[in-house]
Amino acid sequence: MSAPSHADHALPVEPLLKVAGLAVSYGRIRAVDGVDLAVEPGRIVSLVGSNGAGKTTTLMALSGLLPLSAGHITFAGEDITTLAPDLRVARGIAHVPERRRVFAGMSVRENLMLGAYSRDDAVDIASDLERMVALFPRLGERMAQLAGTLSGGEQQMLAIARGLMSRPSLLIMDEPTMGLAPQMIDLILDTVLEIRKQGMTVLLVEQNAVEAMRLSDHVYIMRLGRIVHEDSGANIDPERVKSFYLGADA
Ligand code: ATP
Repeated sequence: MSAPSHADHALPVEPLLKVAGLAVSYGRIRAVDGVDLAVEPGRIVSLVGSNGAGKTTTLMALSGLLPLSAGHITFAGEDITTLAPDLRVARGIAHVPERRRVFAGMSVRENLMLGAYSRDDAVDIASDLERMVALFPRLGERMAQLAGTLSGGEQQMLAIARGLMSRPSLLIMDEPTMGLAPQMIDLILDTVLEIRKQGMTVLLVEQNAVEAMRLSDHVYIMRLGRIVHEDSGANIDPERVKSFYLGADA
């Protein structure tokens, strides 16, 4: 194969994640209804929208935690629509769930090791632990501490670090700043930028649309189970976003 030429940069980039016609139902309630998304590699893409819009449901379907009623998911060029969640992790998708679910009765180190469960490369795991400490020094100071005794912000750091321990190419984050103090929100959002800088792709759900717009390359707005608007982070109009939030279901 020949080396890439400068002209290659002009070619459209193949999305790392492509979602077509995604639908998810809870019994007779269709929570997500025909969602199309494309997440290009190395980008931060946000999904914003009011409560109950279907954002968490979408993320859970992407990581295989909820079955699809319809649609297709392609990741790194392969159809993963019916792939089991653990195999999606092995392919490079990590999910940092809503409400930072850490294992409260286990130490910080044990929580981190769980994130690496699909790997058997002990040396690299040790160096990844060091990378996590570099990213979150506060975790490094608390490796032996039980996760349940950490502050909310520290638990969020741990949830993110645990996700990163599987060496994902795509990190899915569900409301990482929810309920955190302003200073901690800034720290977590700076970390999202750092994660992109390290070459990963991020799909982020944020209740705080203004923050999401500020840091995202692309923003999708969701309402009542559908994508109602999308634009680049730089171009998206905050007033337009507000009008979607304050729509008929507000
Ligand atoms: P939030 O910001 O409040 O988490 P969201 O955009 O993430 O909102 P979802 O949590 O995906 O929205 O919910 C979408 C819809 O599905 C809502 O109407 C919600 O009530 C419904 N729903 C979510 N989880 C369940 C469930 N386990 N059983 C039944 N309905 C559910």
